[in-house]
Amino acid sequence: MPKKIKNQNAKKAAKEIEKDLAKKIGMFDQLPESCSSCGDFFDKTSIQEVASWQVTVRGDTVRIYCPNCWGRATELVKAADELTEGEEHNEVS
Ligand SMILES: [Zn+2]
Repeated sequence: MPKKIKNQNAKKAAKEIEKDLAKKIGMFDQLPESCSSCGDFFDKTSIQEVASWQVTVRGDTVRIYCPNCWGRATELVKAADELTEGEEHNEVS
């Protein structure tokens, strides 16, 4: 049975998730303990939550958003960006 091919694809996908997780885990010291929007508790020990919550970094400020708020936040962020245009941006180009 060609089980190996299936496993390789799964491994590749898992690696991408791992990379993303590693990035988030690297910031764990700075991560807030709850959603920056609704205050929902963020469980750092839950891989599912770590994988689905969104982390935003602006300067020294790290914010996290639960999946529920993130959908709405993307709209708000657009508006906020327009409002905070004077703020310092660290864009790498
Ligand atoms: Zn939330």
